[in-house]
Amino acid sequence: MTILDRRLALLGGLAGLSACATQPRAIPGVADAPRLPHVQAHMRRLFDITVCTRPFRPAGPRLDTEMLGDTLVVHNYGHGGSGWSLSWGSATIVLEKALARGDKNLAVIGCGALGLTTAVLALRQGCAVTLYAKDLMPNTRSVRATGSWTPDSRIALQGPAGPAFGDLWERMARITWKSYRSYLGVAGNPVEFGDRYALSDVPFSEGNAKYYPPNNLGFAHYGSRIADLVPGGETLSGAANPFPVPHVRRSSNLQFNVASYGHTLLREFYAMGGKMEVREFHDPSEFTQLKQKVVINCTGYGARDLWKDESLVPVRGQIGWLVPQPEVTYGVNYRGVQMIPRSDGIVIQMLEGGDMRGYNDASETVDRAETAEGIARIAELYSRMR
Ligand SMILES: Cc1cc2nc3c(=O)[nH]c(=O)nc-3n(C[C@H](O)[C@H](O)[C@H](O)COP(=O)(O)OP(=O)(O)OC[C@H]3O[C@@H](n4cnc5c(N)ncnc54)[C@H](O)[C@@H]3O)c2cc1C
Repeated sequence: MTILDRRLALLGGLAGLSACATQPRAIPGVADAPRLPHVQAHMRRLFDITVCTRPFRPAGPRLDTEMLGDTLVVHNYGHGGSGWSLSWGSATIVLEKALARGDKNLAVIGCGALGLTTAVLALRQGCAVTLYAKDLMPNTRSVRATGSWTPDSRIALQGPAGPAFGDLWERMARITWKSYRSYLGVAGNPVEFGDRYALSDVPFSEGNAKYYPPNNLGFAHYGSRIADLVPGGETLSGAANPFPVPHVRRSSNLQFNVASYGHTLLREFYAMGGKMEVREFHDPSEFTQLKQKVVINCTGYGARDLWKDESLVPVRGQIGWLVPQPEVTYGVNYRGVQMIPRSDGIVIQMLEGGDMRGYNDASETVDRAETAEGIARIAELYSRMR
């Protein structure tokens, strides 16, 4: 699989796109290209730019346990660019460890994707849960994510993760995929499927080093392990191709409308009796002062300071938000930029540089020129469309 194939696989159905790389086929029964509403890609439609750091650990997320006095600490942080996509599976694994002693009175630290999901799952399992966090849901880094099903995006490096991590990853991915099933078709569309088009000026089989240069760190990719799970993709050619670009693939991808999904999780949390307290921890020893003796540490990139975990590498990512266009229900990935039409805004995100983009960059300062360049590339595409 080339670098471009992997990038495109993140955008669309992992399994189908890989298969299509070797065997292009036209879509049966489709005579003409669908007329796709245009995205109004203009700086004047920009209403926000958000930046955050992915909490990446070369060895993969930390899910082990340790005792601090009589307090059992279960870690659940370091999910890189895959936190939403692995949240339910990771929560399942850490709860197995947390509940091994039979104590169902839990503290969860953190209100991001991992903390909130873990808290909701624990409540569903009959636990009493108090969630402590410095920042609550609207202000966490998780809220600034793209919101796509990207379960192996910057999740680990092959060497440090070792061969065993693949099995753990697969379990997390499969559980999470199944769990999201129950949020499809729910009012407010917290989670939905959307068409994604991967566009390329050069054949996909040639890769596209111009936008996605190879990296020598060896990021781990496990998409082939869940090829049976996700919908397949298809190559569009001739009259079926709606774009002024020669090489096009379409797939269906799971999308998290994070504003709606976040509120849905919070409602569930409170409805099941969860308690929340705004609190910052400055040292691990403060965990032992809590009345709960089982604590699940979901502090994301915050664990670098709190737990002195210097294996956490920040991977900067920035999103420009265009005013939503409900009529646009498909996303595109073209010339190193992705556009995803979420209900809470149209995502414009520069991906050029591939997995190394933003690597070891902890800056959360907005770079307006980056977003302007992304919007310009998408605008140029539409300027050539009917
Ligand atoms: C640009 C971008 C795009 C992304 N796109 C996707 C995507 O499409 N799909 C996907 O699956 N993933 C994506 N990710 C990755 C995903 O956002 C992360 O993996 C996820 O947000 C990590 O969640 P978390 O709960 O571990 O951390 P956070 O969201 O950072 O939450 C940490 C929580 O812990 C609290 N905390 C931290 N330190 C302390 C402390 N000392 N005391 C008290 N509380 C503390 C914080 O206040 C917060 O509540 C993306 C990331 C970025 C940056």
